[in-house]
Amino acid sequence: MLVAVVSDIHSNLAAFQAVLADLPAVDEVWCLGDIVGYGPDPNECLETLLGYKHLAIAGNHDWACVGKADLSLFNPDAQAASLWTASQLTEENKEILRRLPSEMTVGDFTLAHGSPRDPVWEYIMQPSQAVANLSYFTSRYCLVGHTHVPAVFWGPAGGQPAGSARPAPDTALEIGERRLIINPGSVGQPRDGDPRASYVVLDLAQRLARFHRVPYDVAATQAKMRQAGLPYMLWARLAAGW
Ligand code: ZN
Repeated sequence: MLVAVVSDIHSNLAAFQAVLADLPAVDEVWCLGDIVGYGPDPNECLETLLGYKHLAIAGNHDWACVGKADLSLFNPDAQAASLWTASQLTEENKEILRRLPSEMTVGDFTLAHGSPRDPVWEYIMQPSQAVANLSYFTSRYCLVGHTHVPAVFWGPAGGQPAGSARPAPDTALEIGERRLIINPGSVGQPRDGDPRASYVVLDLAQRLARFHRVPYDVAATQAKMRQAGLPYMLWARLAAGW
């Protein structure tokens, strides 16, 4: 079984479509939250995801724009984008976002937007945070997003310490005995200095997680955001991936 793992699409339809066009024939798409927020196409991104056999959990942006997460925790640009997103979403799509679970477990994988300890808000940046989170999920592996940086964290095992890595594009990570927390990076707003859309394909038969990047039409998304009056910083950053 092949599973596409995507996160932080952030209403960037051009980026999401580039990822979908780049995928092998996957059986399912698992989305780790922040389907909307920041970008110009919230309804279209959600409806595109719904067209696939998929699993989805809530991100802070998904819930902020439907009044289920505290907007005052956002910076002014994110607040403005969230209010704009709320003004664009159909009532039906808002209800879908409102009903997204904050986490779920499927087979060997727990899915959480931020972390299993604090699914909607915590950013796992350091190995020490990853280790602290290992006791908050019982499956062998956890998939998270939220930081917009592709990464893998592992706990201590066999006398080896905990650690982390930023897998390079087109590298395959073995998913074996060791417990792992895997972040596929962001489809719609990468923050690791590479503007290309980021995602992972899980090959459950081969026990591999493959990290991928794919270019998309950044200028097209920026033009839509400018036209919508979304904050300058939110569209400027897409060109540099930060
Ligand atoms: Zn996000």
